[in-house]
Amino acid sequence: MLKTNIVIIGAGMSGIMAGQTLKKRGQTDFLIIDKGRSVGGRMATRRIDAGKADHGAQFFTARTRRFQSEVNQWLSEGSVVRWFGKNHPRYMSIDGMNKLAKRLASDLPVMLNIEVTSIRLTETGYLLTTMEGDIQAEQLIVTVPAPQAEALLVNGNVPINQEDLNTLHQIKFSPCLVGIFKLSRPSKLPTLGHLDQNLPEGIIRMVDHYDKGISHEHILSVYMTGEWSQQHFNEEPHVVLAEIVKKSNHYFVDQAIEVSQLKKWRYAEAVKFLRQPYLSLSLPHPLVLAGDAFLTADDSGKHTRLETAFTSGVLTAEYLIDTMM
Ligand SMILES: Cc1cc2nc3c(=O)[nH]c(=O)nc-3n(C[C@H](O)[C@H](O)[C@H](O)COP(=O)(O)OP(=O)(O)OC[C@H]3O[C@@H](n4cnc5c(N)ncnc54)[C@H](O)[C@@H]3O)c2cc1C
Repeated sequence: MLKTNIVIIGAGMSGIMAGQTLKKRGQTDFLIIDKGRSVGGRMATRRIDAGKADHGAQFFTARTRRFQSEVNQWLSEGSVVRWFGKNHPRYMSIDGMNKLAKRLASDLPVMLNIEVTSIRLTETGYLLTTMEGDIQAEQLIVTVPAPQAEALLVNGNVPINQEDLNTLHQIKFSPCLVGIFKLSRPSKLPTLGHLDQNLPEGIIRMVDHYDKGISHEHILSVYMTGEWSQQHFNEEPHVVLAEIVKKSNHYFVDQAIEVSQLKKWRYAEAVKFLRQPYLSLSLPHPLVLAGDAFLTADDSGKHTRLETAFTSGVLTAEYLIDTMM
C-alpha cells in the first residue's frame, strides 16, 4: 500500500498551489492525486482537429496583492499575457489555460487517473480507497468541490460533527453547460474573440478561440448561465446543443458548424461560498477542505474564481505546516 504524510486530493489550481506551498516550505513527503487525465481541473483545454478551446476558465483577474505578485511572475516568464481590460486586466495563459496548470504542476509529485471513492479514518490518519489500490496518509487536503468532498467522507463513514456539516452545507455550486463548435468561417464576435454583454437570455459568455489567439481554427464556445444549465442538464446532448445553436446563431452562420461538442460541468461555480480560506474538520488527524469556494474574509470579489482557488490552496498548506510545527 502507498503511504505518505500528506495527500492532496485534486490537481486543480487549489491542489497545485497547496503542493507548491508545501514544497517551498521544505515538505517532500506528499502526493497530489487526481481522477483526471491531466492536471488543471476546471482549467481545461480541449483539442478539436487542429483547433483548441478553453472550455472551463477563460481568463483570470487579480484583486489581491498576493495573487497579483504571482501573476506578475507568470507574465515575466511569458506563460500568461493580458487578454483585454485596461483598468481591470483579464489575463490568459498562452496556448490554453490547461498549459498554465501543467507548468505550475511540472515539478510536483502528481498521480493522475486515480479516483478516490472513499476516505476512512484510521488510527494513524486516513485510508483512501481507489480502483488502483488503497493509499494511506497521515494528513489530508481535499480540494474537490464541497458536495463531492462530503460524498467521499460519507462513503467512508468519517465522523464529521454537525457543526462542520452545517458549514459545509452552506456551499452551493451551480452547473455550466458549454457548447463548443468548430466553425468553417470566422464568427461575428468582436476582434478579441470575447463577448459577455447583451447576449441572448441563457448565454453568459461567448469566446472565439482563434481570435483569442490559442487556436488555428475558429472554435467557438458558448457558456450557458447556471439557471439555464440547471434546467437542461439532464437532456440529451444533441437536444442541448441544438438549443444552444438556436440561441447563439446570430453570432455565426449555423451552416458553418463542422463539429459540435457539449461540456457539462456539474460543479462550475460556487454561488454560495464561505468567507474563510479553508475548513479544517474537527477530527483526530488533520483533514482540511480547500478550493475556490473558500474565500478570505477580506476578498472584495463576489464570485469564486481562479484567484480564490489559488489563495485557498496556498493558505491551506501554510495552515497545515504551521499546525505541524
Ligand atoms: C465553465 C467555467 C468557466 C469559468 N470561467 C472562469 C473565468 O473566466 N475566470 C476565473 O477566474 N474562473 C473561472 N472559472 C472558475 C475556475 O475555473 C475555478 O474557480 C478554479 O479552476 C477551481 O479550482 P479548484 O482547484 O478549486 O477546483 P477544480 O479545478 O475543480 O479541481 C478539483 C480537482 O479534483 C479532481 N477530483 C474531483 N473528484 C475527485 C476524486 N474523487 N478523486 C480524485 N480527484 C478528484 C478533479 O478532477 C479536479 O481536477 C470557470 C469555471 C468553469 C467551470
